[in-house]
Amino acid sequence: MSAVLVWVETTEGRVRKPSLEALTAGRQWADALGLPLWGVVLGAETSSEVSAIAGEYGAEKLIRILSPELRSFVVNAYARALSALVREKNISYVILPQSYDGKAVAPLLAIWTDAALFSGITQIPEKEGKGFRARRIAYSNKGIEWVYTEHLPLIVTTKANSFIPTKSPRKWVEEDFAFTPDARDLRAKPVGVEKVTTDKIPLTEAEVVVSAGRGLKGPENWKIIEELAQVLGAATACSKPVADVGWRPHHEHVGQTGIQISPNLYIAVGISGAIQHLAGVASSKNIVVINNDPEAPFFKVADYGIVGDAFEVVPRLTEAIRNYKAQHSS
Ligand SMILES: Cc1cc2nc3c(=O)[nH]c(=O)nc-3n(C[C@H](O)[C@H](O)[C@H](O)COP(=O)(O)OP(=O)(O)OC[C@H]3O[C@@H](n4cnc5c(N)ncnc54)[C@H](O)[C@@H]3O)c2cc1C
Repeated sequence: MSAVLVWVETTEGRVRKPSLEALTAGRQWADALGLPLWGVVLGAETSSEVSAIAGEYGAEKLIRILSPELRSFVVNAYARALSALVREKNISYVILPQSYDGKAVAPLLAIWTDAALFSGITQIPEKEGKGFRARRIAYSNKGIEWVYTEHLPLIVTTKANSFIPTKSPRKWVEEDFAFTPDARDLRAKPVGVEKVTTDKIPLTEAEVVVSAGRGLKGPENWKIIEELAQVLGAATACSKPVADVGWRPHHEHVGQTGIQISPNLYIAVGISGAIQHLAGVASSKNIVVINNDPEAPFFKVADYGIVGDAFEVVPRLTEAIRNYKAQHSS
């Protein structure tokens, strides 16, 4: 008997949101196929809390691949461990979150298990004829592509924010799978880590993002953006020129040459909406544009637009949200 297998990615022992989305997709796919859902966790150690979360989101089994050599993410070692599991258990359906690590592992895993790969799907693959059809985001977020395969195993990666994490509790069991990476998979490995970001919400996982561009005139004016982000529980982002001149850190730069995101709400302040910027944000579910130029191209893709001076509009918006939250907090 086969199963749908989901890689439950953890950071410092915590299950990350992209994995909850992947488990949600996995549960849907397993139900459609009439198969069990299994999760797999990789690392040097794990906790029963991780298994419990996987069970809460629909996994019936949590397979643990634990080895001291898997303490840090090493792409070859992780892909080799997963491919050993997929081959040994004869698994035909695999889901990885389309996180940085998921994106790196998926192609290697596809090669080593002789699988087909759909990357960045936004819906679970549907049975069509003898194969499966899926919808994915393509062309740097500028288009949608439908992909089809009759080949198994089939590996898919789930695009961030495409599946709303949904609990579907199951009785779960744990199982250990023995694997030790060999030297060929550990040729390059991390020897030290220095965190450059704080405990802020990672941009790729944020449901709400407040972003600003050159219209803000200078780095000293970002306080109004940070206050709006704070009241909304949002991550902050920026356009490329803003990061290029050092007004904001590079890890906030979104667009074709930056990070590609698809939050539920993207608020763009003083950003013109150049095609290269839109390539990173156009698949956001709701876009709000604040710009003092009614002809700014960003308005063409906006769900809501405010024509006005950011320095007046943003503080008023922040204040209004703060008041609303205070009135509805109980
Ligand atoms: C190969 C290539 C790759 C690129 N990759 C990226 C990328 O990944 N991401 C990216 O962002 N860009 C990218 N760019 C750059 C892109 O083409 C634009 O130049 C850039 O996005 C413009 O940034 P901006 O909107 O902040 O600035 P501007 O184009 O200068 O726009 C500023 C906006 O602020 C508005 N404004 C001014 N004052 C106010 C005010 N007081 N209140 C409200 N609004 C105001 C203006 O009306 C204007 O619309 C790339 C370009 C190239 C050639």
